[in-house]
Amino acid sequence: MRPAVLNPLFAEVATLKGVGSAQVRQLARLKIARLIDLAFHLPTLMIERQAVDQLDESLVGQPVIVPLTPVRHDRGGPRSPLRVAAVDRGGLWVDLVYFGQTASWAQTRLPIGVERQITGKLDRYGQKLQIAHADVAAIAAEAPAAMREAVYPLTEGLSNRRMGQLVAEALGRVPALPEWIEPSVLARQGWAGFGDSLAAAHRLEGGRDRLAYDELLANQLALMLVRQSTRSRRGRALPGSGHLVDALKARLPWSLTNAQSRVIGEIAGDMAQAEPMLRLVQGDVGSGKTLVALFAMLAAVESGAQAAMLAPTEILARQHHASLSALLDGLPVRVALLTGRDKGKVREVILADLAAGRINIIVGTHAIFQEAVAYQDLGLVVVDEQHRFGVAQRLMLAAKAHTPPHVLAMTATPIPRSLALTRFGEMDQSMIDERPPGRQPIETRVAGAARLDEVIAGLARHLEAGGQAYWVCPLVEGNEDEDEAAATTRAAFLKARLGDGRVGLVHGQMKGPDKDAVMAEFAGGRLGLLVATTVIEVGVDVPAATLMIIEAAERFGLAQLHQLRGRVGRGSGQSVCLLLRGDELSETARSRLKLMRETNDGFRIAEEDLKLRGPGEILGTRQSGEEAFRFADPGRVQQFVAMARADARLLLDRDGGLDGPRGQAARLALYLFDRDAGVALLRGG
Ligand code: ADP
Ligand code: MG
Repeated sequence: MRPAVLNPLFAEVATLKGVGSAQVRQLARLKIARLIDLAFHLPTLMIERQAVDQLDESLVGQPVIVPLTPVRHDRGGPRSPLRVAAVDRGGLWVDLVYFGQTASWAQTRLPIGVERQITGKLDRYGQKLQIAHADVAAIAAEAPAAMREAVYPLTEGLSNRRMGQLVAEALGRVPALPEWIEPSVLARQGWAGFGDSLAAAHRLEGGRDRLAYDELLANQLALMLVRQSTRSRRGRALPGSGHLVDALKARLPWSLTNAQSRVIGEIAGDMAQAEPMLRLVQGDVGSGKTLVALFAMLAAVESGAQAAMLAPTEILARQHHASLSALLDGLPVRVALLTGRDKGKVREVILADLAAGRINIIVGTHAIFQEAVAYQDLGLVVVDEQHRFGVAQRLMLAAKAHTPPHVLAMTATPIPRSLALTRFGEMDQSMIDERPPGRQPIETRVAGAARLDEVIAGLARHLEAGGQAYWVCPLVEGNEDEDEAAATTRAAFLKARLGDGRVGLVHGQMKGPDKDAVMAEFAGGRLGLLVATTVIEVGVDVPAATLMIIEAAERFGLAQLHQLRGRVGRGSGQSVCLLLRGDELSETARSRLKLMRETNDGFRIAEEDLKLRGPGEILGTRQSGEEAFRFADPGRVQQFVAMARADARLLLDRDGGLDGPRGQAARLALYLFDRDAGVALLRGG
């Protein structure tokens, strides 16, 4: 239930004056649906407009206020913009350009021969100077003299001025709210209250730190409340009997690494208790997490319960299903697969078998936790490589079982400690810090795109010798200038050079069954080269592939490069990762590639990644695959997470039900900053 004091902020944008359905759609493109979204839509910079009498070259690129006299109206063709040619007092020509304005509008607002005060950003377009969507004032007194204006992220059809008005309306409706931050923290940091901080952030005059802290506080509270609510319900001990685990051990072609054995022991220890397990296993790519998960799932099955394994992608779900089925072949354990692609009869049979307990282990995508899916007795949930496994999902999943299930999360995305706390702060941690024996470190090289022919010749030799390889491209289909980096184009090119039958293509826009078919061909060794987008980023396991070529490597984030590189080096052979780079590299891109060459250590890469990312690069960029914070960027996460954690802990220790005055205030923060969690956690409260 939403706290009533927040109702005005959660009104829909359509309730604002002058916001019609077209504008609602524009705002929706920016994920703005309610007033709160507007209030949280912060500007990226502040510009200072200069009032000048005359234009000159030095002003190009700057916002200006200048008197101009229209000379000619030019409608152009039916689809081209309205153009008004104008001159300044020194006789310099400028085009005023408007999309979506009519000639009659121009006749009234910009009459020929009458000087007007024009406000806008001066640009150069080819040989000409122009100002797009300039504001017009009839006389100097109506035009702003010099002014500061916040610049907001925009979408087509929505002007910055309009956005500014909408934001101001929303800010005007922010109610006075009680303070949720611990007073000593507030005093030490010298922060203003929530409303004042928000307003200051919109003027780019500070305020943002407090909002970042609020967000982290809400995040920590949510995680602690999940833990509290999970642990408050008694779970069930799943000690296992050992017969399946022993049978699996006996048939494994290799022995477990020490790290695997240790982590399997930690998990078994948790599952033998009635208190539900909440454990995160971190282990670099190739450290053998799947097997660890399988041991946990077998312990559940031995105890008569079902286990579910949630994978982030269809490809990965299928692969897990295949490898688990192979490992369990001949054992009395039934493993099934369920993804969004299974429909109709097939799906019905799986659902019936799950509900009746005829399936012991189910592997799948989010489909395994949909409403219609019922389990006979779900005892363990394994979540693999799932970045966006938020609080709401965790609670939904718990609702699938009679008693709260044990939860095991696994990640290969190495996360610096501070970030791990924001995502998995409520979980106990295990670390697989060892790789299976016989693995040689992957050798990483960087080469300029100019050496493409050489690279292809090397690749041809590799394939000739019976080797397999990946070629990863940043895009599916290129637009004009990025053509060659596109996977489809690249695949066609490589097919022509290397032979049609040896090259496969897989990307996210392909139909599921087509993707599977190609993956199966590659895994079975019938294809030598797999051209792919980042759909293969996570989890894909084809040990025979020992060469990874990543094209336009500078366009990938470090975490992503590390994940992609982890697709090779999975067998005993020497593997090579070749990073092809473009000609013009930013300083950061250069450092990233250098780091990749220097180390295979995922944790070092994660720490450096955090340092290399500028303060503007907010968590949650798709590049890094990390989860989105709106205000807390990496630098600030580092700085504030421990504080927010202590603050949240203190609050819950004093007031576990969040019923006292500060507890009630904290509910507001939870609702404002982590809405999904807020909705889920405060339900009925
Ligand atoms: P990740 O931790 O990246 O999920 P996987 O579970 O996919 O790693 O394991 C990587 C590869 O290592 C797989 O081919 C798996 O069969 C193999 N593997 C796992 N454990 C061992 C081990 N103890 N000894 C040798 N190979 C192993
Ligand atoms: Mg894995």
